[in-house]
Amino acid sequence: MGQDTWTIGRLLAWLPAYFEKVYPAATRLDAEVMLAHVVGKDRLYLYTHYEHPLTKGELATLRGYIERRIAGESVAVILGEKEFMGLPFCVTKDVLVPRPDTEVLVETVLSLRGDEPLRLADIGTGSGAIAVSLLRQRPNWQGLAADISAAALSVAKKNAERNDVLERLDLRRGDLLAPLTEPVDILVANPPYIPTGAIPTLAAEVRAEPMTALDGGKDGLDFYRRLTSEALTKVAPGGLIAVEIGYEQGRAVGELVRAQDAYTEPQIVLDYGGRQRVVYWEVKV
Ligand code: SAM
Ligand code: GLN
Repeated sequence: MGQDTWTIGRLLAWLPAYFEKVYPAATRLDAEVMLAHVVGKDRLYLYTHYEHPLTKGELATLRGYIERRIAGESVAVILGEKEFMGLPFCVTKDVLVPRPDTEVLVETVLSLRGDEPLRLADIGTGSGAIAVSLLRQRPNWQGLAADISAAALSVAKKNAERNDVLERLDLRRGDLLAPLTEPVDILVANPPYIPTGAIPTLAAEVRAEPMTALDGGKDGLDFYRRLTSEALTKVAPGGLIAVEIGYEQGRAVGELVRAQDAYTEPQIVLDYGGRQRVVYWEVKV
């Protein structure tokens, strides 16, 4: 960026080309989202205000964002914010950035349970995306959000507060289902499921996320093994268990569910890309 006046139009022309040259993983959308954030407007504004000049301060902020982006940080972490289920969530380097794929898990649970007074547990809550968006949609539910990471839990707490569900959400630190002291009606989890050996192949933005959020052990299935056995005593009869899975894990997770007589036949839900994304089942009554 030189000394001349940098308008929105000029930046819209220059920044995507700059990314293309120095860091092709950064997209035009990244450039637009960062620019819109710097000027405090939405993306549409950019296209109707080409002549709008940025102040020195705004340019300095944008320069900082660009440096972080080409160093491999995601736009969500740089801006500290990500939308999930139409709600705003704070994100930091201590949490997994909520993924659009995970909305399939939330939608699945919403399609299976209405607004009766039910107890929900979100295990490995991270930013709190799943628990918070479910409680927003179901005012009669009470929730528990648990995570092994204290740093993640403090982000989840902020998000519960920001989205007005903190009164109905208990946040507890602990290993998997250990924080659950009484049975729940709905158990949801998006556990770490990347096979350890595949982690070096992930995009830089993903590798910059906490390893505790990603590493699912040798075959990626460690958490499903534990969840399918530990949930037997922590989910009430008739209760629902729904987990996100990696797109090649449907069969293996299904087998883990079938290995327990207490469970109903597992069902698989596809994501918008047509890949297996969610497995759900119930505890027999
Ligand atoms: N639920 C969030 C979402 O869907 O965006 C985050 C999911 S992230 C893939 C997995 C989460 O599980 C991380 O927040 C991580 O800290 C947590 N986690 C990892 N091991 C755990 C354990 N043993 N017990 C509880 N939580 C754990
Ligand atoms: N879906 C995440 C990814 O794309 C992985 C999240 C997880 O392990 N649960 O890397």
